[in-house]
Amino acid sequence: MMELPEQKTKIVCTLGPASCSAEVIEELLRRGMNVARLNFAHGTFDSHRQIIRDIRAAAARLNRPCMILGDLPGAKIRIGKLQHEPLLLEKGQHIMLTTDPAPDSATDIPVIYDKFTDSISAGSIIYLNDGFIQLRVQDVSDAAARCTVLIGGELLSHKGLNLPGARLYVDAVTETDLAFVDFALHEGLDALSVSFAEKAADILKVREFAAARGRYVYVVAKIERAEALENIDGILAAADAVMIARGDLGVQIPLEDVPAAQKKLIHKANLMGRPVITATQVLVSMTANIRPTRAEVSDVANAILDGTDAVMLSEETAIGRYPVETVAMLAKIAAATERERKAIKSLADLAGYFRAGGGRENIAVEDVLALNILDTVGALNIRYVLSPTQSGHAPRRISRFKPDCWIIALCGTEKERNFLALSYGVSPVLMEHEAGPGQEAAIQFISDAGLCRNDAKVVLTEMTSSEQPDAIDSLKVITLRCAD
Ligand code: PGA
Ligand code: MN
Repeated sequence: MMELPEQKTKIVCTLGPASCSAEVIEELLRRGMNVARLNFAHGTFDSHRQIIRDIRAAAARLNRPCMILGDLPGAKIRIGKLQHEPLLLEKGQHIMLTTDPAPDSATDIPVIYDKFTDSISAGSIIYLNDGFIQLRVQDVSDAAARCTVLIGGELLSHKGLNLPGARLYVDAVTETDLAFVDFALHEGLDALSVSFAEKAADILKVREFAAARGRYVYVVAKIERAEALENIDGILAAADAVMIARGDLGVQIPLEDVPAAQKKLIHKANLMGRPVITATQVLVSMTANIRPTRAEVSDVANAILDGTDAVMLSEETAIGRYPVETVAMLAKIAAATERERKAIKSLADLAGYFRAGGGRENIAVEDVLALNILDTVGALNIRYVLSPTQSGHAPRRISRFKPDCWIIALCGTEKERNFLALSYGVSPVLMEHEAGPGQEAAIQFISDAGLCRNDAKVVLTEMTSSEQPDAIDSLKVITLRCAD
């Protein structure tokens, strides 16, 4: 009988020392592994060949499909073997990076990239180990760079090195990669992923190499450079699937830009019908602990709700203490989240929920006006919403819809002002008033605060009747005229 798993989200496991035995591979499959990823940056052809055999055998025993994905290291720059590890780097310390693979000094860091010194200059920032360690280049010679440690830490051999924005004199698909492609075709791997892809041509290079040997190989584009985001349409058209490689991406672009990039990528990939893998630090604390953090669990759930097809484990399964438990946990999170997908879908868009008739039992005038404010802010490029208030009620009703401008709450009391500090997009100010300041006083406040811009439009909420001083019953759009 065919067994269907609890979860529909697909699980990619990177195999490594912690998981490459036949027993562990079988257990990973039982717990939900759908894709086994071999990292060609590590291991030998022989070791990979053995793992491939074990995966095929285990999948056949369990009668389950398992895709084998070979990851081409490509333009990923790494450091070489350190003489002593971990090498402790302390803030302010000077350190040499050299293209000599076996430097004399035990503290020199070998860099495996022969054009390293061409890609950097004095002042360049170098990121090691996904940005946990940062260096600034002091001076560069032919084959070495003297650097100052900006952020220190413990460095291990073979960690990645990033030079965001630098010109790289290395192809996304190198000669070494093509040797891996040849090996992969020979061993019947299902797919290959291209690290540091920059443009569609990088994907096509692998495809054409296979085609010249009469083969078709599925190609996954790893999105981990700013250039890839710029060329994303071409890359998506050329690739069979994409991976949001958050490890390197989080160094190549500002870390705080990663979540939005992830959401846009998932959306785009879904739109074009390309499977999308969300990768890196997914349950990373489980590398050492049997339970993940709440934040990790939430991150997985959010990626699933956003529409990711698959989630990838890296060190969790490659070198972690609990590879099997991590897959089991991921499967549980996925199943629980998927059960709620439909219920949660409409919740994020509160305005849409209201407009579709939800939450209408006790609808008040200000609810309808707040929706109107949302439309007005969007349509008329409103600079501020000015909301005189006695209890904070009206600004809170408006804040719920997250309009795209600040709500300046003109508060009568300090207590109310301080509580409004909690509400999204509300800037509460104290402005003693009895029944709410009129239009003139509110505009005067804007001017005094230096917030007036000529011709800018603001919305003022008002209560024109005196019976319910803290409700609102009308909106006014005012074009500011400032005295210079
Ligand atoms: P890597 O790719 O593990 O091969 O570096 C994934 C990532 O960068 O997130
Ligand atoms: Mn990467």
